[in-house]
Parts: sequence; structure tokens; C-alpha cells
Amino acid sequence: MTHHSYQHQGFEVLQLPVLRDNYTYVVLPNDSDRAWVIDPADASAVITCCTAHERSVSHVWNTHHHWDHTDGNEGLIRHYHCAVLAAASEQARIDGISHGLRDHEVVALDGLSVQVLAVPGHTDGHLAFVMDDAIFCGDVLFSAGCGRVFEGTMEQMWQSLQRLAALPVGHRVYCAHEYTLMNLDFACTVADTLPDEDYRQRCHQRRDMVHQWRQEGRPSVPSTVADERAVNPFLQPLWREFVVAYAIRWGCNPFAMDVFTHLRAWRNRFVADQ
Ligand SMILES: [Zn+2]
Repeated sequence: MTHHSYQHQGFEVLQLPVLRDNYTYVVLPNDSDRAWVIDPADASAVITCCTAHERSVSHVWNTHHHWDHTDGNEGLIRHYHCAVLAAASEQARIDGISHGLRDHEVVALDGLSVQVLAVPGHTDGHLAFVMDDAIFCGDVLFSAGCGRVFEGTMEQMWQSLQRLAALPVGHRVYCAHEYTLMNLDFACTVADTLPDEDYRQRCHQRRDMVHQWRQEGRPSVPSTVADERAVNPFLQPLWREFVVAYAIRWGCNPFAMDVFTHLRAWRNRFVADQ
């Protein structure tokens, strides 16, 4: 089976669709026989892929402890005796951590450099990994959406999203789920209630494009930071005009945090309504 793949400086990324709508990413450093795996849900899918590419897994990276990002750890450790890198604070919840990661840490391996960002909110120990111009952000920032706030506070989630949105606009956003079409349905619903005609058009155009891609069986991920800043409703509170217009329309306080919180609660109901 062939996978979508993407070239970066010093490595290639393979995108494995697993389970219902998850993506596991396999990173192939150039000029190496090793592979890294980000968020393995299923060891056998990774082993099949790496065998086909004549690579063996040296490192597993987990963005957070949820089972659909970590269930493959055990099988990969057994098969490859690989190392596992995840948040130091998640030792009790993630199998086989051999190196506990911390915010701001930079890990140099196989000629590559990985910057570790703490992005709590979806879970307490959630991390994002930045390699060259690739961002692996798990379930924090999705294309046109964001993860549910399960363990952290709304404030933490908003801070984490701002941190990711502040990365260079050309960086590619490798999120862990193919939720984009549903997220864009929500974005259009929100935009349709607001006076900003440009935002409304961007959302509808993006939804039409992603709808087309999905019809053709193509992934909508990765997007770019620029794409997310343009359409993601959970990043629009970055802009004062959006905050003011939204607060007037929906009767919340005209602060980014309040608008973000209102949007996140609306999104939860939106899913329930489907
Ligand atoms: Zn999760």
C-alpha cells in the first residue's frame, strides 16, 4: 500500500490513515535505515509500512496519552526495541517512556532537530513537536478546528493554540485526525452569523475545496499555519474585530478568552446535534 508522503529538509513524512479517522506519521530521516513514529495507534500498520520501506523504528513519539495515539507503543517496543519519547509528566499514563520530554527541549537525533512545545488543554501533558517546517500537534490544533478541552482549562487551551498559531505561516500542520470537513461545516455556520463577508467566503471556499479532496480520497491534512489563521474559527479570536463582532452577535464579553470559550462550547453542541 502506498501512502501520502511529504518532503522536508532532511526527512520525509509518511501519512498512515489508521482506525476510523486517525493519522499516524512515520518520519524517515534521509540517509538512514531508521524510522520514527509519531502517535502509533496500531503497531501492525506501522510495521507493515516500515518493512516495505526497509526501515526499522528507532523512536516513538507520543503527543499525549490517549489510546488512539499510544496503543501501538507496546507492539513496536516488542518488535524493534525502540525508544519512546513523551512528556516527562506522563510516565504513569504512557507505556514504555524511555526519555521524558519537557517544554522548550530540543532533541537532536539522526541529524535532525526536534523542538518540543508544551500545549496543554486537551490533556495536561500534551506536547507538539516541530521539525524543520513540520508541526506535529496531535489533538490540540486540527485543520479548521481544535481538540476538546478534557483535562486542562479553557485558558490553557487558548494559550496553546496561540503558541501554535505564532509559528511561521508556511509551517505545515500535521494534526492527528481527519476532522476537517465537519470542522469546516462548523466554521461556515459560525461565519454565516457574522458581518465579516471575507471570513465567510474563505470558510465556504475552503469547505468546497476540502469536500472535493475528500471525494477524491485525498487527505485534507497537512494544512499550513496560514490556512489555519485564515479559516480556523478557534484562531479568529486573535483578531480584535472578530472578537468585537462575535461578542455583539452572541452576547459574550468582548475578550478573546470569552469568545474562544463560547466557540468551544458551541462546537460541542454542534457535534451533539449531528
Ligand atoms: Zn486525544
